[in-house]
Amino acid sequence: MRFLSVCSGIEAAVVSRHMRDLTGHRNGRLVAVALDSSKAGRAMWSCRCDCGASVVVQSNNLTRDAGTKSCGCLRADAQRARLARDGAWNDGKSYAIGGGARCYKTRHAWAKAAIRHYGNKCMRCGWSAARCDVHHKHPKAAGGLHTLANALVICPNCHRVEHEARP
Ligand SMILES: [Zn+2]
Ligand SMILES: [Zn+2]
Ligand SMILES: [Zn+2]
Repeated sequence: MRFLSVCSGIEAAVVSRHMRDLTGHRNGRLVAVALDSSKAGRAMWSCRCDCGASVVVQSNNLTRDAGTKSCGCLRADAQRARLARDGAWNDGKSYAIGGGARCYKTRHAWAKAAIRHYGNKCMRCGWSAARCDVHHKHPKAAGGLHTLANALVICPNCHRVEHEARP
């Protein structure tokens, strides 16, 4: 890590002697290429990202651990990896699985969606006076998913019967 002297030519006219020369400095995917500008004692460095993009980053964001580490492609790559792993997210609560079906992340979101979709009416006996439960046709423990196709909207009585038949 070197400091520019005031006598090192054109750059020195731009870089005050208190500013560190970060040329060639790497932070994550970014490498400082040249000083872009400086204002209020803060140097802005023109950087090249490993992906090929150019960005201008403030010097202290290039030297801090929590600073800027890419042109934004790091986040985009993380997002892409998540999509590849989880499928296309429709919203925070559900994601697409094969065949365009929607799988809910939580039991709660799934049950709400099932009741919204099928209505609060027992699919076994038709009772609708009580708040229905949502039962997994294919048990969760056996790999059943939180999909509408796997939801059985059922009154508490029928739900009990269902679990007595197949605990
Ligand atoms: Zn990049
Ligand atoms: Zn019922
Ligand atoms: Zn159940």
